Amino acid sequence: MSLFAMAQAQIERGADLIGLRDDYRVLLRSPKNEVIVNFPVQLDDGRFELFRGYRIQHNNVLGPYKGGMRFSPDVDLDEVKALATWMTFKTALVNVPFGGAKGGVTIDPAERSDEEMSRVVRRFTHALGNNIGPEHDIPAPDLGTNAQTMVWMMDTYANSVNGLDRQNVKRVVTGKTVACGGSLGRDKATGTGVAICLAHHLENEDRTVDGLRVAIQGFGNVGEHTARELHAMGAHIVAVADHTGAVMVEDAVLDPEDLWRHVSEAGGVSGYRHADTISTEEFFSADVDVIVPAAIENQVTPERIERLKAQIIVEGANGPTTRDAEQQLVDGGVVVIPDVLANAGGVIVSYFEWVQNKVSQQWPLSEVDYRLRQQLWDACDHVDRARERHHCTRREAAYIVAIERLAQVYDQRGIWP
Ligand code: NAD
Repeated sequence: MSLFAMAQAQIERGADLIGLRDDYRVLLRSPKNEVIVNFPVQLDDGRFELFRGYRIQHNNVLGPYKGGMRFSPDVDLDEVKALATWMTFKTALVNVPFGGAKGGVTIDPAERSDEEMSRVVRRFTHALGNNIGPEHDIPAPDLGTNAQTMVWMMDTYANSVNGLDRQNVKRVVTGKTVACGGSLGRDKATGTGVAICLAHHLENEDRTVDGLRVAIQGFGNVGEHTARELHAMGAHIVAVADHTGAVMVEDAVLDPEDLWRHVSEAGGVSGYRHADTISTEEFFSADVDVIVPAAIENQVTPERIERLKAQIIVEGANGPTTRDAEQQLVDGGVVVIPDVLANAGGVIVSYFEWVQNKVSQQWPLSEVDYRLRQQLWDACDHVDRARERHHCTRREAAYIVAIERLAQVYDQRGIWP
């Protein structure tokens, strides 16, 4: 099943449970706009190369299109359509006044110099032109992009508009560096959100994160900050995996700060001297309470969970669990906290950044953290209530909350002209 087909099937499932009108299903399943740009970039050796970039604008009935930009060799139309679709339901679920979009470039950033990356980002932004804009479509970082990428995008966009508007368009992207208008706390927001969702679930069972054994796949933005946050809350991070391999400690606890220093120098977790090397299969069957997939799609598969010991999966990544694996997890009583909820901390604080830029303010970190927790906790409560009403999984409940909000707006606004 393609990733986009998986996203559509998730919508159908939520729609079935609430008997949604057929015409609304068609609207919610399909992206509004699909922008593909082919743009030339001069490489360090003087040659020109043509790159392909995407921006899929799925839905904007709740507000401007919003979603990350992914730079990876695997980026293709199907993937960005799925990711854009998930954004629409994520923003609706956590109640931020944005729609859903996603974009990216098919490129391996690891093979490029900073100068080449800067030129690719700037040419891509230029090629997108007015397809993005501070009240129209607002990109953010995702896999393979970061705060520097966003600053290059913002600077290119600002220098392409009328000079009098230049200071007014910073919010065309979120996830910028703090020096260039980013929000305090945006870098850690997605990881913090993962920890909040886990804590919310445990509170329902009168448990806390303290002492829980956790394995995390991915040690980029989401994985690293999830590890730091959970470690600070008393959880024991015992296994971490990434594109270079997997490492684990038996009777100890990994220190996220020390592991981060290793990853910054070595480029991945492989070779970390304070842990043993394990295989991907051993990672997924490790003796832990919680697994947080925080890397790429389709990682939690039926084969990998045959010997699963974890009782909770918190989806930091988008689409990490295949449909077959999810059924197996549900049948086995494993709790799955779905991506549209678990990794929504990033878009919530992106919204805060957009608001701060709009009114030329910078909120203190304590205020950002407080508001993030309130907004995400509230979304978790809504999902729990929908589960009780419809006797369904957390993913189905999350879609129900989002679909009901979107359908209400279509009911009241109609389609005009
Ligand atoms: P990132 O580029 O910062 O880090 C990606 C991590 O995944 C790296 O540690 C990398 O080694 C690992 N990885 C890549 N390929 C792998 C493979 N084949 N096997 C194991 N590990 C692999 O990206 P990120 O921003 O942390 O995003 C991770 C996931 O979280 C993506 O699915 C993204 O869409 C999702 N997400 C990110 C944000 C955000 O704010 N950055 C918000 C919501 C969702």
